[in-house]
Amino acid sequence: MDSQQRRSATGQGAKIIALANQKGGVGKSTTAINLSSALAMAGKKVLLVDSDPQGNASSGLGVTSRDQEHHLYHCLIGEVPAGQAVCEVADHDNLNIIPTHIDLIGVEVELISAPKRENFLAKALKSLKKNYDYIFIDCPPSLGLLTINALTAADSVIIPMQCEYFALEGLSQLVRTIRLVKNSYNDKLVIEGLVLTMFDRRNKLTFQVAKEIRSHFQGSVYDAVIPRNVRLSESPSHGCSVLTYAPGSVGALSYLNLAKEFLKKQKP
Ligand code: ADP
Ligand code: MG
Repeated sequence: MDSQQRRSATGQGAKIIALANQKGGVGKSTTAINLSSALAMAGKKVLLVDSDPQGNASSGLGVTSRDQEHHLYHCLIGEVPAGQAVCEVADHDNLNIIPTHIDLIGVEVELISAPKRENFLAKALKSLKKNYDYIFIDCPPSLGLLTINALTAADSVIIPMQCEYFALEGLSQLVRTIRLVKNSYNDKLVIEGLVLTMFDRRNKLTFQVAKEIRSHFQGSVYDAVIPRNVRLSESPSHGCSVLTYAPGSVGALSYLNLAKEFLKKQKP
């Protein structure tokens, strides 16, 4: 059954997945870019929504708000339908992006007293769900209103984690926030999986922390691990995913493995 048939069979449209962790530098944007690209390469129709005002996912795919009349900010405040902010990604078939802009920072303040302020992103994405198999939302490094909006819009959440000493610290806060959103705004929300990123095989601590995370989140941690790989850190400056920039690299292969495992876990 191809994706088009599946969408019409369930009538539900795209599955929406937030990439969240309030820590910065744990691999959210890198995973957003490369997992989206890997799934698009596998023939899935994918939309990446850049909900971090810093715009690393947008610039990492060669899309900047300067090239664009509309971006996520305009969709969130209802100035334009989300479809008007969707752009194609050069050299990446099947992959679209809604880029961000630094103005998005202001949305947290602008929406603070709006009724149902957690629901703006869900509302904005509704009309796009029929066009895609998967919609990924790259979250900012905070548990503020943008992340709450992403979790309210999402069916599930992927948590990228760096295997370092403080990795588990703050994780309980994230899990509490996910539970709060689930109980208050979005009862379908589940944890899709945890991804271990920037894995350093030469470092003993990495293995210890990975073991601890796996025993804490039994069954939820992907077997596919993303190693520290220089091609992954270089590719954003070339404005493309690692799969296009360095297709044979360890970084590319590890994200292809993650995509494979991700797809295997989806319900038929
Ligand atoms: P976040 O979005 O969580 O803040 P990023 O994905 O931007 O994290 O990653 C932080 C930095 O680490 C970036 O400079 C990125 O290029 C680099 N990076 C991410 N994953 C890897 C990896 N597996 N190997 C090497 N560098 C990585
Ligand atoms: Mg980021």
